[in-house]
Amino acid sequence: MSTYAPPLRDMQFAMKELGGLDAVLAQPGNEEVTGELVEMILDEAAKFASNVLAPINAQGDTQGCRWNNGVVTTADGFKQAYAGFCETGWNGMPAGTEFGGQGMPTLVSTAVLEMWKASNMAFSLCQMLTLGAVEAITHHAGDELKQRYLPAMIEGRWTGTMNITEPQAGSDLAAIRTKATPEGDHYRISGTKIFITWGEHDMAQNIIHLVLARLPDAPPGVKGISLFLCPKFLVNADGSLGERNDLVCASIEHKLGIHGSATAVMAFGEGAGAIGWLVGEPNQGLACMFTMMNHARLNVGLEGVAISERAYQQARQYALDRVQGRTLGRDGAPSATIIGHPDVRRMLMDMKARVEAMRALAYYAAGQMDRAHGHTDSATRQSAQTLVDLLIPVVKGWCTDSALGIASDGVQVHGGMGFIEETGASQHLRDARITTIYEGTTGIQANDLIGRKLARDGGAAMKRLIAVMGDDIDTASAADGHGDAELGSIAAALRTGLRALSESTEWLLAAPAREAAAGAVPYLQLCGTVIAGWLMARGAHAATSRLASGDADGEFLAAKRITAHHYALHVLPQAGALRDTVLHGATTTLGLSDAQF
Ligand SMILES: Cc1cc2nc3c(=O)[nH]c(=O)nc-3n(C[C@H](O)[C@H](O)[C@H](O)COP(=O)(O)OP(=O)(O)OC[C@H]3O[C@@H](n4cnc5c(N)ncnc54)[C@H](O)[C@@H]3O)c2cc1C
Repeated sequence: MSTYAPPLRDMQFAMKELGGLDAVLAQPGNEEVTGELVEMILDEAAKFASNVLAPINAQGDTQGCRWNNGVVTTADGFKQAYAGFCETGWNGMPAGTEFGGQGMPTLVSTAVLEMWKASNMAFSLCQMLTLGAVEAITHHAGDELKQRYLPAMIEGRWTGTMNITEPQAGSDLAAIRTKATPEGDHYRISGTKIFITWGEHDMAQNIIHLVLARLPDAPPGVKGISLFLCPKFLVNADGSLGERNDLVCASIEHKLGIHGSATAVMAFGEGAGAIGWLVGEPNQGLACMFTMMNHARLNVGLEGVAISERAYQQARQYALDRVQGRTLGRDGAPSATIIGHPDVRRMLMDMKARVEAMRALAYYAAGQMDRAHGHTDSATRQSAQTLVDLLIPVVKGWCTDSALGIASDGVQVHGGMGFIEETGASQHLRDARITTIYEGTTGIQANDLIGRKLARDGGAAMKRLIAVMGDDIDTASAADGHGDAELGSIAAALRTGLRALSESTEWLLAAPAREAAAGAVPYLQLCGTVIAGWLMARGAHAATSRLASGDADGEFLAAKRITAHHYALHVLPQAGALRDTVLHGATTTLGLSDAQF
């Protein structure tokens, strides 16, 4: 069976050296969150992830959720695991303290969430959607709705969902048709939503649906969408559950992966209309959604990191156990495990280096979110927010896209057994496949990156980041005195990557919109490759300094240097090819007529 051991040392390294943990903990509001407390939280989360969530991951996959006449039953063990998850306070750990959360910095909760996602991605989605709904309600709902719904949602007694997608409205939210008709102090909601994650299940007493719908006089397009709160069971003033609302789970999807989570078709208002309450202002539903978009997208990017880590751990274990062939250069030696074969080592090193690079990027973005939220200086908060806005589509798009290749390499390391379900390697590949699709496809992330984030300030934020990365590597190289061959090689690869990023940025800023859009995804991949390459270089310098100061963790730190060097030699060179695709790819991409496809 596939097991999972959270990579705590790696996580702590990424938090401290790249996410800026010490600075985050020094911010006002985090006085009670000490370094020791963070370590304790990670240790406890690691136990829950590996002892409770990982063991039910495979049965979630094989049993899936079952639908019967609107009722959804989860796989064996999920209900009990969820009860334990809530009892131990994990559900509300990232939420603010006002309504019962623990108010952990995003950087700390990011490391914890990585463990839930790696141990059992399907299970973790329930908390992710609930906390997304909590965030939207916290920022936009009136006091009464907050008081009535947030404590139970944060505790986990009630879960939350996000009802956006309709059959004709996926990436294009302007096409949403669900209706909301005013009636006294509330609204009647009617319409069909599809693909609603954890839209129905048996793990909690109530499900609080956030629903995008149109008011009768709403303007067309995205400017006419409002956000509504629609509970499965109406909630009485004293917090007890009342009547069943007019909404049902019409069916659940049979899907490629994340079988342990229900993906529901939700029918609202088949009778008199589901009762709902407006969250935020009329026609401002999209703006309300934007509030939670950065966290939601960081979290899906983190799914890419988590599932890749899980695939890597499984492949490493198999490579250490599987005996096949003889190790090159050791003639006469008996058969050896496949980890001795250079090509298997190449695959494992690629997986390891990419996972660390993705984690570096995600944790760096999380640390910047904390800076944007709580730094004492307003200019620093503002520049951190600009950086977060720029990085989020890259974290979401690049980490999830990379996860597909890593999970696929995990299967390859297993040979034929990777293709057979019982090893568990293929579940990671199937589970990873959704991450580039929901919460905005990679194409939509790339459009956001070049259309909104790059174009809106004429590329100023990206150019600033490129300059910071260039200066940083120059300063680090100068401090090292250029005497370290490995660090020198990393710096050289990074400088070449930075040139590719800079040239592509300039080209995109000047290109006609349609040609720029044809290069958007390669540009997103280029950004991820280079920015994460910079963070890997920073990690290598940090490891070098710690080694020089006699840090006891010598083997771990030496591996950090080799892994960063591998990334520089095997992954960063792709930056040049991606630059060429951005600059010249539109010629062929846009070359055929529709009929020629
Ligand atoms: C398992 C699962 C869980 C989900 N959970 C939820 C949920 O909880 N709540 C919810 O509301 N929704 C959920 N979704 C829906 C999900 O967010 C959508 O599937 C996703 O946004 C894509 O929409 P679509 O499927 O209609 O694809 P389409 O929008 O039809 O896209 C098809 C293809 O066209 C591309 N494309 C479309 N428009 C553009 C454009 N302007 N530029 C470039 N390329 C474009 C896309 O990138 C994609 O490759 C879930 C989906 C699945 C499968």
